[in-house]
Amino acid sequence: MMKKSILCLAAAVCTVSLAACGGNSATETTAAPTTAAEAADTTTAAEAENTEDNSAQAEDTESAEETQAEAGSEGGTLVMATNAEFPPYEYHDSAVTGPDGSDIVGIDVEIAAAIAEKMGKELVIEDVQFASIIPEILSGKADFGAAGMTVTEDRLVNVDFSDTYATAVQSIIVTADSEITGPDDLEGKLIGVQEGTTGDLYSTDDFGDDMVERYLKGVDAVQALLQGKVDVVIIDNEPAKVFVSENEGLKLLDAAYAEEEYAIAVKKGNTELLDQINSAIAELKESGKLDEITAKYITAE
Ligand code: GLN
Repeated sequence: MMKKSILCLAAAVCTVSLAACGGNSATETTAAPTTAAEAADTTTAAEAENTEDNSAQAEDTESAEETQAEAGSEGGTLVMATNAEFPPYEYHDSAVTGPDGSDIVGIDVEIAAAIAEKMGKELVIEDVQFASIIPEILSGKADFGAAGMTVTEDRLVNVDFSDTYATAVQSIIVTADSEITGPDDLEGKLIGVQEGTTGDLYSTDDFGDDMVERYLKGVDAVQALLQGKVDVVIIDNEPAKVFVSENEGLKLLDAAYAEEEYAIAVKKGNTELLDQINSAIAELKESGKLDEITAKYITAE
């Protein structure tokens, strides 16, 4: 069963700023290759691999599979699965060109680019539904998942996680006039989440399936809150800050719902890649580059 620690942290401790995306605003959330069919339920979504929308990425996928055969060797591609609806870790910004030539940028993207560079490989980003990231890794379509992914016991059954590179909390967003002040007020409330995320898993665990409304993107859950369709949104603190700053009439509660740590996921047993990722992360930490990347996207208060 999912275990979580409910912590009531002051915002000053767990968050840094409302101006989340220094330089590049987290705009242009163009549609990720997701389908309504995939949204039907978490299990189906997690298993959906060859949907129409994903076929657009068939070319990348083929090259990814070829690359895997030569894993460890110099050259070739390194395929990252992500869900680019999660500013400032990964999001679309039409004003810039990311490391793979697309408009996907963010903290995870820069970390992945550094890993690829260290391995002498070209980074390829597969932008998929969040719940499809682990299936992409398991099927070999992607080499690793980097998506502000929280290390959980359940995920560790299928994937191995790298050393952690960030801490996060599940935050609560409410409308400015809401009487909800913290996690203790959530009982009986309708909770909006991004499907398959820890916000979804934890709140389903705590309050039951009926109290949780799932959306493909965090921003859609936020729109539902603005429209009065849900009472709160539970989502990671950094995207929460971005969404609150971009929409009038919302507030982020100081008291957080859960604390967690982000890491990169690889197929269980892929120690060769995991070792390379861990040594790249260690280098990024030691050189101060990780702090630099983080500071570029998250401005300290
Ligand atoms: N940290 C959350 C999780 O791992 C959300 C990640 C995301 O939405 N990209 O489930």
